[in-house]
Amino acid sequence: MLIAGAGIGGLSAAWWFARAGIDDFMVADLQSAPGGNARGGGNSISRYPLGAHYLPLPTRESATLRRLLSDLGAIEGAPDSVRPRYAERLLVAAPQERLLRFGHWQEGIVPEAGLTAAERGQMQAFFELVARFRRRSAAGKAFALPMAASKVDGDALALDHVSFATWLRGQGLNSAPLHWYVDYACRDDFGTPAAMVSAWAGLHYFAARDGEAEGASSDVVLTAPEGNGWIPEGLAARIGGERLQCNAIVRRVRATRSGYESWVEDIASGRTCRVRSKAIVWAGPLFVAPRVIEGLPDSARDYAARIDYAPWVMAQLSLHSSPPERPGAQRAWDNVLYGSRSLGYVVATHQRLSAAQAPTVWTWYHSLQGAPSKILRRELLAQPREHWAAMALSELAPAYPDLADHVSRIDCIRHGHAMARPLPGFLADPARHWFARGLPTLQFAHADVSGFSVCEEAHARGVSAAERIAAALSGRKPDPQVIFDV
Ligand SMILES: Cc1cc2nc3c(=O)[nH]c(=O)nc-3n(C[C@H](O)[C@H](O)[C@H](O)COP(=O)(O)OP(=O)(O)OC[C@H]3O[C@@H](n4cnc5c(N)ncnc54)[C@H](O)[C@@H]3O)c2cc1C
Repeated sequence: MLIAGAGIGGLSAAWWFARAGIDDFMVADLQSAPGGNARGGGNSISRYPLGAHYLPLPTRESATLRRLLSDLGAIEGAPDSVRPRYAERLLVAAPQERLLRFGHWQEGIVPEAGLTAAERGQMQAFFELVARFRRRSAAGKAFALPMAASKVDGDALALDHVSFATWLRGQGLNSAPLHWYVDYACRDDFGTPAAMVSAWAGLHYFAARDGEAEGASSDVVLTAPEGNGWIPEGLAARIGGERLQCNAIVRRVRATRSGYESWVEDIASGRTCRVRSKAIVWAGPLFVAPRVIEGLPDSARDYAARIDYAPWVMAQLSLHSSPPERPGAQRAWDNVLYGSRSLGYVVATHQRLSAAQAPTVWTWYHSLQGAPSKILRRELLAQPREHWAAMALSELAPAYPDLADHVSRIDCIRHGHAMARPLPGFLADPARHWFARGLPTLQFAHADVSGFSVCEEAHARGVSAAERIAAALSGRKPDPQVIFDV
């Protein structure tokens, strides 16, 4: 078996094969370390995220993710209980989030301070709507995570035809603080403003995450200094060095009479070897698939070319001393500035027991907006590190005008095709469904298959892909609980 791509999707497929007793596989990734967009980095001060930085408490529907977390030691006790017990080191320490508005930090990122009575009423009306969409009924959940476990009916399809911002206005919800808040959430989770995101996807963000934990409130998240990097690192350690080849790019895949033949290039030596396998898990982004895999149907090729990817840039600011704070709530793990183009910063050392505020590393996040993605990507590539480092400082300046005096270095990382945007119409697109089903021995295991990018989706697609192949090769029926057709 060849698994192309060692992100959460590819590594989860490998984990599922190993659980099914199949260990004859190889995972190849073009990068120098596994993890894809969930990798962690670090320096002498701390480890820090290079992409994904948190996991909400896994839902009941995320059964295999909970099993994985149990294998990795993140869940202590039964992974399938309603409220599993998570390892304390991963439950984000309080204070979790704060928001700078009117020059004052408030706790939490839902705007509260200084709202008019009408704005407060709209905020409440929105959360009441979300609570209705969250309810479980005998027919299932309207919004579930993984998304393919959601009940998709006429109402869901209608939501997928309009943007989230338009839908909110249609509900009479038009207050500026509410629109800022949902727009922030969409830029944070999808890299895409609420005016572009499908209303189904926007509501999914708010209504699907209903995981609980023993001894913790349900809005806490799981995080570590390296963000979500501990997940691929744990998976890679379990898979074992021999079966995981980094710096290895899968250049070409073609079907043969007995399976597949793939050309895998070792980037360091330039040597290409030909790998024969009975099956392939393609766990790279979907836009790359038609460039590598021969013979994909035209509709699948068209779909892969149509996916609109949001570009992101991140900066890791190493601080030797702590800048003075605006008044209000004390520094949290996630610190957000109202009205900013970017998404604020998370503190890598937040989980340490010591209350020291420096030295530390802040990771600043920014999803580029305001032009077609291709143009944004060109800008991302053309502008040097200095440009993005200066942008990080200027975006954080409303909170810290003298931040540069406290920073010893700034590293930047660019993600050109960071996240597939869930635009209106994505939910029912038959070509996306084709990728979800794949072929018996050619499966797709990237978050792109879900149409939006979160670790839970990447994991679910990896497991679904591996389960279909394991079943096809052994002649048994796949477990319907873990495979997804949409
Ligand atoms: C800046 C940022 C912040 C994020 N924050 C969060 C968060 O806080 N929480 C969350 O849940 N999600 C977050 N996400 C999304 C999350 O990181 C992704 O959904 C998830 O990591 C995707 O995993 P994947 O395996 O589907 O894909 P990827 O991570 O894209 O992995 C694909 C892998 O395929 C490899 N590859 C591609 N082509 C080839 C080839 N030809 N040969 C060999 N290998 C190849 C790539 O090198 C890569 O390692 C964030 C993403 C970004 C970019």
